[in-house]
Amino acid sequence: MSCPPAELLKKCESFAATWRAYRATPSFEQFVEFAITLSSFAEFLHGKGLSGLNQLSRDLEQQALALFGDDDTHPISPAAMAELDSRVASLSSRITAYLDAASRPIEERRAAVETPAAADLSSGRRIWFVAEQMAPWQELITQLGYFGIQVNHYAWATLPPDGDEPTSLVIDIAGVPAGEWTERIKALRARFAASNMVGLSISADFHGMQSALVAGCDFCFPRGTALPAIVAKLLELNDSEEEAPFRVLVVEDSITAIKLIQRALDENGVESLAISHPGDALDALKRYQPDLILMDMYMPGCTGVEAARVIRQHAEFLSVPIVYLSGETDVALQVEALRLGGDHFLTKPFNPVILNAVVQSKIERYRLLRRSMFHDSLTGLLNHTSTKQKLDTVVSQALGDRGEIAVAMIDIDHFKRVNDSYGHPVGDQVIRSLAWLLRRRLRKTDIVGRYGGEEFLVGLPNTNAEQAHTVLDRIRRDFGQINHPFNETWFNTSFSSGIAAFPDILTGEGLIKAADEALYDAKRGGRNRVIMYQG
Ligand code: GH3
Ligand code: MG
Ligand code: MG
Ligand code: MG
Repeated sequence: MSCPPAELLKKCESFAATWRAYRATPSFEQFVEFAITLSSFAEFLHGKGLSGLNQLSRDLEQQALALFGDDDTHPISPAAMAELDSRVASLSSRITAYLDAASRPIEERRAAVETPAAADLSSGRRIWFVAEQMAPWQELITQLGYFGIQVNHYAWATLPPDGDEPTSLVIDIAGVPAGEWTERIKALRARFAASNMVGLSISADFHGMQSALVAGCDFCFPRGTALPAIVAKLLELNDSEEEAPFRVLVVEDSITAIKLIQRALDENGVESLAISHPGDALDALKRYQPDLILMDMYMPGCTGVEAARVIRQHAEFLSVPIVYLSGETDVALQVEALRLGGDHFLTKPFNPVILNAVVQSKIERYRLLRRSMFHDSLTGLLNHTSTKQKLDTVVSQALGDRGEIAVAMIDIDHFKRVNDSYGHPVGDQVIRSLAWLLRRRLRKTDIVGRYGGEEFLVGLPNTNAEQAHTVLDRIRRDFGQINHPFNETWFNTSFSSGIAAFPDILTGEGLIKAADEALYDAKRGGRNRVIMYQG
């Protein structure tokens, strides 16, 4: 699950609270509040990839919207009340059950992320395959294995008892009687709260696909779909990066306002830091690296607009969104703030739902923007410049605490031939598959960047050259086993890599140069090998 359990629990509780509030005071306004919270909760579950819970909450939302009505239709009938009540309770208890079952593996996975890169570092993502006949799927399972995705096979009758949940559930309906398969998919959907579900061997006509999706599949593939297409979808589904919580810097002189704002943000899982003196803003920005600034308009000795102007003098804070909190009457200041590129106003006293909606949408856009600035569009990895910057950052940290870092330069072998033989788009897909492989097989704390066309730079903190060699060599062997699809057939390819390590070499630039020299040796030595820099 890519969602902190505490956040899910809190979201669930605040949604259930709006329902209790409606039951206590069954007014139209309360119902609106309930419907809004429910819809934002469903959106949240969707965003976190909790597919089964999301489908449940959407069903509930549909029912709530049908009862929306107006002042005259509330309270709703006792029967409708009882029906909604039981559905809210069942969603809440599904979430509690899911959290109970999920909490242990999550802690284990977290711990695994922090271990040194010496060991095999599979991502902890798992696929359960439910099929009577596994023979047709062996190749698919082998291919997924290279990406560090573990596949467990179950026949329909042998699914383990409740508790554990995989990231994806792949269901092959071949051999299941025609009248039964939708019921079986429904039963699985009801049992697995988070897993995304992929149906295989579905009949390709409209009705077959529709039935599979309605029964609870998130995706389905007709009989005869080429394996690489299924592999690609499963990689994509298992790719969800755990997103860091949103962070807001609150610049506000009133302690009461700070409390209200922080409480509203906290309810939505948004982290915040508050300062009451605008003079502390630059320091706080550097330290806290927020995704957004909530800025009071009137503070002693400094208006919000003046503070924003100072902040905007610093290139690194040019694009952080600033949302102003102002009284109804500060029209002149509002106009000035807009002229200076203010992002949004909220008037005090603010509505917490609106505050959160504004904060979330601004931050989402800001993060997208930052992604496009720092990441490569083909692979999603860090781009050339940010890879180097990140490496410099970890090098200076290692200088401070006498740590170790290994740096590897990777270059695909004879890549021109790939392009020449199979075409540029196929070449792109090979680049993407190596990017996937690296991301999946390295730790979250590792730096993985696309350094150039078919060149990648990897930085492994707390890792020495020998450990890095072990890890990279295993990745090299597996990369060579990946079948890259081309028309009805496939081809294999390889990469070479050079490794250098800190503190043998003390600068980011020096490490890159040394790794590149070792890479050159690897190429000269015959390619498809990993070589350590000899100094
Ligand atoms: P070597 O084993 O010596 O590395 O041989 P090579 O053919 O891989 O040689 P080189 O690294 O010099 O060639 C890289 C080729 O990669 C040249 C370029 O056309 C191709 N290339 C660079 N960027 C991309 C890209 O984004 N997509 C595709 N499809 N090809 C790219
Ligand atoms: Mg004020
Ligand atoms: Mg190259
Ligand atoms: Mg090359």
